[in-house]
Formats: sequence, C-alpha cells, structure tokens
Amino acid sequence: MLRGIPASQGVSRSNVVVLDRTRINPAKRSIVEADLAKEEDRLKASLTETRSQIVTMQNRLREAMGAKEALIFDAHLLVLEDPMLLEEVSRFIRKDLVSAEYAFYSASEKYADALSNVDDAYLSERAADVRDVTQRVLANLMGRPTCAGLGDLAEPCIVVAHDLTPSDTAMMDSTKVLGFVTEVGSRTSHTAILARSLRIPAVLGLGGMIGELRSGQSVLIDGFNGFVVIEPSDETLFEYGQLVERQASIEESLEIIHDDEAETKDGHRIILSANIELATDVEGVLQCGATGVGLFRTEFLFINRSDLPNEEEQFAAYRQVTESLAPAPVIIRTLDLGGDKLLSHVNVAEEMNPFLGWRAIRLCLEEKDLFRTQLRAILRASVFGNLKIMYPMVSGVEELEAANVLLDECREQLRAEGAAFADTIEIGVMIETPSAAMIADSLARRVQFFSIGTNDLIQYALAVDRLNEKIAHLYEPTHPGILRLIKATVDAGQAHGIWTGVCGEMAGEMAAVPLLLGLGVAELSVTPSIVPRVKMLIRSIEMAQARELAAFALDSDSPKEILARAEALAKAAVPDFFEGAA
Ligand code: PEP
Ligand code: MG
Repeated sequence: MLRGIPASQGVSRSNVVVLDRTRINPAKRSIVEADLAKEEDRLKASLTETRSQIVTMQNRLREAMGAKEALIFDAHLLVLEDPMLLEEVSRFIRKDLVSAEYAFYSASEKYADALSNVDDAYLSERAADVRDVTQRVLANLMGRPTCAGLGDLAEPCIVVAHDLTPSDTAMMDSTKVLGFVTEVGSRTSHTAILARSLRIPAVLGLGGMIGELRSGQSVLIDGFNGFVVIEPSDETLFEYGQLVERQASIEESLEIIHDDEAETKDGHRIILSANIELATDVEGVLQCGATGVGLFRTEFLFINRSDLPNEEEQFAAYRQVTESLAPAPVIIRTLDLGGDKLLSHVNVAEEMNPFLGWRAIRLCLEEKDLFRTQLRAILRASVFGNLKIMYPMVSGVEELEAANVLLDECREQLRAEGAAFADTIEIGVMIETPSAAMIADSLARRVQFFSIGTNDLIQYALAVDRLNEKIAHLYEPTHPGILRLIKATVDAGQAHGIWTGVCGEMAGEMAAVPLLLGLGVAELSVTPSIVPRVKMLIRSIEMAQARELAAFALDSDSPKEILARAEALAKAAVPDFFEGAA
C-alpha cells in the first residue's frame, strides 16, 4: 500500500496505465543489405499505424472540444508526410545500413534541431511536433505501446503520471479515466481540481513511491485517505465495496435538497456558486443546484490549441454561459495565464519562479491586444444576463486601475461601433496576493465585490508552493495568518458595503466551510460536483456556531487546533460525509 495526498474523494479499482514521458532513444543497430526491403516495409507499416492513431485521437478531440482544437493534430499528420524528413530517413537506412528506428530518430533529431535553432516561435513549435510524432513512430516500430498522451487510452484505467498538465487533460477521454495517481502535485494543483470536477478519485504527490506502479497492474485507489493498494486482496475489495455503496446512497439523498437554498439552520443565506473551466461545463452548473458561476477560469479556452480564440469565439462562449444561467450571476475571470497554465503561442520565456512571474493581470496589461479582445467579448456578452468581471492576481490599486482603463477603452470602441453591452457591470478583484488582502480597504472603494483565491493566497502568504508535494503538509488553510488575511478582507469589504466570496479550493473543504461562514464570507464557489455536499453542510449548521468557531480560530496560534475544532463542527453536522476517512 502506498500513501499520497488525498486530492479527490472516492474509490476506484482498475488497471494502471503509466503515462510515459521518457523519450525513446534507440541505440544504433546495423542491418545487412539483404534486409533493406524488410526494414523499409517496417518503416512504412509504422508510419501507417502512427497515422491511424493520430487520426483517431483527432476525431476524439474534435467530438469533445470542436474542430478548432483538433487542428493541432494536422501539424502532426503533416510531419508524417514531410518529404524532406522521409527522404532523409530512407537515405540513412540505405546508405548507413542502420535500422529504421535509428534512422528515423537520427533524421528527425537533425531536422528538429535545425527548426528549433531558428529564432522563430512558429518553427520552434514545429520542432516539438516533429519530436512528438517521432516518439509515436518509434514506439510503433519497437512494439512498445507506451501511452504518450491521454488521448491514447483504449480501456478504462487509472492514470499514473509524474504530473498532468492542462494540455494533457484537455485531450483526455474522461470516460476512460477512473482515477489519477501522480508523483508531484497537491490538493490545489490542476490535476486535483480536475479530478474533483470529474468526480473521480485522485491520490497525488506520491513522490518516489510512484516507481512501484507499472502499466497493467491492478490497483485500488482510495481518494478519501490517499491510499493506493497494489493488487488488493478480496477482503480489501469487500470493505471498499461497502464504502462505495454507502457513498452512493449519500449522493442520492443529496438530490432532495437540489432546489433548496444554501441557508443555515438559523436563517443565514449564503450564495453557493460553481467554478467552471469551459462553456460546456454550464450543464453541470444547472444540474448541481448552484446559484450561478462564481469563477469562470477563461484561460482554458486558450490552452491546447495552435491559435488564439478570436473575439467572436470568446463572445459565443461567454454568452452561452451567461444566457443559460440568466438571471443567475456569472463571474467571468479574465485570463489567468502563466504559472502552471502556459500558452504555446504567447511567447513566455521559461521563468525561475513562474508563480511569481509574468502571469494573469501582469501578462494581460502588457499583451494589451490579447486583453482587449477578451474584454470586448465579455462586454458584448453582458447583455445576455447577469455577468460580472473579475481580475486575477491583482496586487495593487494601479493594476486594477490600468485594467479598468482598458475596459473603458473597449466600451468606447463598442459604443462607436454601435455594439450593445450592459450599462452597469459589476467589477471585482480576486484577493489572492497578501498585498491585496492588506490593501483591501483601498480596493474595496473601487470594486463591487471580492473573491478570495485561497489556492494562491495560501501559497503566497505561507511561502509554500501549491504544487510541491514535499511541503504539502505546510500548506495549511487553517493557519492563523491565512484566517486573519481573510478576515481583514471581509471586514474591509463590509466597511465599504461590498461582499466577499471564496473561490479557491478551501471553499469546498468540509471543515473550512463553517470557518469561512463564521468569518463573514457571503459566497462560496466550488466545483459543481461538491455543491450538493457544501449545501447540505450549510443547511446543517447554525451561523452562531460558525461565528463561535471563527472567534476561537482568530484567537488561536495553532493551525492544527483550529482544524480539529473546525472538523469536529463539520463532522457533527454531516457525519456521513466523513465516513470514508480512516
Ligand atoms: C485561487 O488561486 O484560489 C483560484 C481560484 O485561482 P486558480 O486556482 O485558477 O489560480
Ligand atoms: Mg489563483
């Protein structure tokens, strides 16, 4: 049994598929002249096989994400037909009398090197395509069906990887993935957030122990406690089977409160919203019983494609979400690129500390055209419902004001063009840097709402990388320093008549919910799959208890003591939810 960080609840059992990113680097193997024809036939067969794999993936992506996204694979198909590359491979085989794999590898490396040495973003990207395709061709030639990407999965499985990036998972066939296990990462990494939204269990941050897992092994993963059991015994399977049944019956019972308000027993109503990443997620919002969208992570519209979404495409996405949920509020967060969410076509140099680097509002204020296109699309969508705009990673008043200047420019342009947009649109900022929390009073004078991004606020305030499993135990949402920053934000907001929400993962942690309510948070925004549980918890406690807990927490020095008290309150209110925990 291996132990990692429990990042998404649930239990799954299936076979492991290790997402293998180790590059195949074939050794030089000589052939005799008599084998030339055979070698060329092998090469041909593997090119055909690779082509058909790519086309299958392309079709899958087209169905899931639309025609545009699937275009990425056109570049890969072109590599397979590239006459210059193929001629060079043939030449190597015939002239040097080497194996097809060695010839393909050598020719493609030479080609990719030449492409990446030209100082041009487009050509460097092509070098990456050549290398990707080469790995597929080599895997086929060598009969090594490694899983090079999540678009490749043939059977339902548990995916084991070093880490999963947004671009890996965008390509993933989610019906085939029953769980995630990763070497790095923790509760607020992209993989964790995605697993919770897909309702599949995840155990992350296994570190070196990940080496114990091999493709084909049967494993059980326990996302409640962070266990990965290799080749589980019948007894283990039986016990977990019962747990799964009980959890399923909890889910059913939550249906009853679907249309009810998120209101405490003593009558305090909380706005319970959902976090989404794509316009198509809006279905899940309608189904889960949330009031609206508290965080639309729009950068996911930009990831995994070879071009930028234009104004029309963005407008369609923002309109779809706003219109389907009207009159419920939809908070559209402007682009939060950078950090772990990278874009291939905006040239972002590799940074030493990407989370402290050129990301979010900082990037948008420099890439003004990119930002203006998004702001225009959002403004145009505003007439279709109750849309609000939120800026990410604001650390000072100047950034907010600069963003508003651009927003006003876009309003002027649209007015001149005769395009419609709502007269009043609420503007908010995310409070996710400690400086923003400390100047919350200055910010509150200039915006209509705050939403605390605890994922980042905690990493910046405690100086604990949110993705680093080695220090995951230091990432403590109940640290008094964090609670005081939240309290300061809420108080500053209230003093200026604006509300504060929380849209980081903390808002969906059972123990944290009463604490946040007690601190005066008015809105919680969580992934749609856990909205029913958060609602049930809110309906099972009294605001008076929550305030008492918050008062205790603000007076305590110990994150652990606060967590224990908070957990005790939540456990007493909804004991069933804690049943899976060992
Ligand atoms: C946060 O930082 O809490 C947040 C909601 O933003 P993201 O997770 O997208 O950085
Ligand atoms: Mg953030």
